Amino acid sequence: MSRQLFAGWGRAAPSAASLHRIAGRDHAERVVADLAASGGHVIARGLGRSYGDAAQCSGGNVLDCTSLDSVDLDPASGIARVGAGVSIAHLLSRCLPFGWCVDVMPGTAQVTVGGAVAADVHGKNHHADGAFSRSLRSIELVGTGGVRRVGPGESESPELYWATIGGMGLTGVVTEVTLQLRRVETSFVEVETARTPDLDGCMALLLEHATRHRHSVAWVDGLASGRSFGRSVVTSGDHARPDALPPRARRHPLAYAPASRLAVPLTPPFGVVRREVVRPFNDLWYAKAPRHRAGEIQTLATFFHPLDALGSWNRLYGPSGFTQYQLVTPFSRPDVVARVIETLARARLVPSLVVLKTFGDGDGAPLSFPTAGWTLALDLPLGAPDLAPTLDGLDGLVAAAGGRVYLAKDGRLRPELVATMYPRLAEWEAARDEADPGHVFSSDLWRRLAPPSRG
Ligand SMILES: Cc1cc2nc3c(=O)[nH]c(=O)nc-3n(C[C@H](O)[C@H](O)[C@H](O)COP(=O)(O)OP(=O)(O)OC[C@H]3O[C@@H](n4cnc5c(N)ncnc54)[C@H](O)[C@@H]3O)c2cc1C
Repeated sequence: MSRQLFAGWGRAAPSAASLHRIAGRDHAERVVADLAASGGHVIARGLGRSYGDAAQCSGGNVLDCTSLDSVDLDPASGIARVGAGVSIAHLLSRCLPFGWCVDVMPGTAQVTVGGAVAADVHGKNHHADGAFSRSLRSIELVGTGGVRRVGPGESESPELYWATIGGMGLTGVVTEVTLQLRRVETSFVEVETARTPDLDGCMALLLEHATRHRHSVAWVDGLASGRSFGRSVVTSGDHARPDALPPRARRHPLAYAPASRLAVPLTPPFGVVRREVVRPFNDLWYAKAPRHRAGEIQTLATFFHPLDALGSWNRLYGPSGFTQYQLVTPFSRPDVVARVIETLARARLVPSLVVLKTFGDGDGAPLSFPTAGWTLALDLPLGAPDLAPTLDGLDGLVAAAGGRVYLAKDGRLRPELVATMYPRLAEWEAARDEADPGHVFSSDLWRRLAPPSRG
């Protein structure tokens, strides 16, 4: 055990806690029982890719789960039983050679399976396949009451299972996950790309692509104004069939070798993600995108995880760090998307990496983020004085529209809005109270969002 500073991917608001490296289920059970007996607070941590303070526990204990790295795949059925510390990248390297792929993948493969359960992560295919939880068969959970195996089909403790999906680690430590993988014939993606001159065009095209493609996403120019407001590049894809591959790729149709990673070696003294850089980057990105191109073959890593090609890119935001604002607004309120981009522009804030996708219906976990609608995500450097009041105002707009912000990206939401954005919060709290009456599992995120009586 050692004392360390922990931060999220946005590198803001680090806090100190005691680090415990979890070696296995029995070890997790012992550590949780000992810490609970001594009155300590605990939170599990994966690869620290949540943007805010979800995997931090100031003054308490952080359980590093990344050594839970077993992978047991049944190549006939595609059912994998994996340690919760296994990263999506590692799981892909083990299952793709047998023609199985992780069905729901976030925008980085550097997240653990435990972190994917705790945030109920989504990919570019939510409209077709739902969130990560849809492929789960069962999870093993170490809580203050011992070890439980829970799942969607289990008659015992369904509330605990659903409270753990998207429950941000607050119901216990996930130590093992059993999930169904998707059968694929190749590890390549057949991609259709088109650029659109404005936001209306972007939304129309995303909806149309969602009817034809399993995976769809739009990159939006968050700084374009006037007639170009919301111009975008929509990219959609499907797992490629072998006969679509070029001859060289056909020799190794299931290869998975993400490009060896260059990394930003250190944090510059000031953030380099500023208007003078983002504007020309956006102009170039839009100009170089094809007006329309279909049938392009990309590797799985290029299509799903392009940002992983540059390690530690979060350092580019400098010592102040950054936040990601991700919201979902119902399909009946597309105006919220435009209002958010406009409001940030009026406040002279500089959103980078602006991404728009569609979600299908949610799957029943009270704290899971995805619900049917538009989801917009924007990275924003911290430090600008207008940032906090502007985002507070946008929270009000999102909540009033029946939308919500994503807790896995959050580092700043006000507690009074949580129950409005997540109307089944009380149901989730009841399940958590039953599993962990003393609230041994706690995090900086939860202390910030819950009034003291609920912490
Ligand atoms: C570049 C980038 C792109 C991203 N794109 C997407 C995206 O497209 N879709 C999406 O949904 N998310 C996305 N994310 C967010 C990311 O998928 C989630 O935050 C995910 O939870 C991170 O997993 P992690 O292993 O890093 O967990 P951490 O960040 O370490 O922890 C996140 C939460 O999971 C809990 N947790 C971790 N391990 C366990 C465990 N074993 N048991 C119980 N709880 C646990 C922690 O307590 C914490 O609450 C992205 C993040 C980055 C940096």
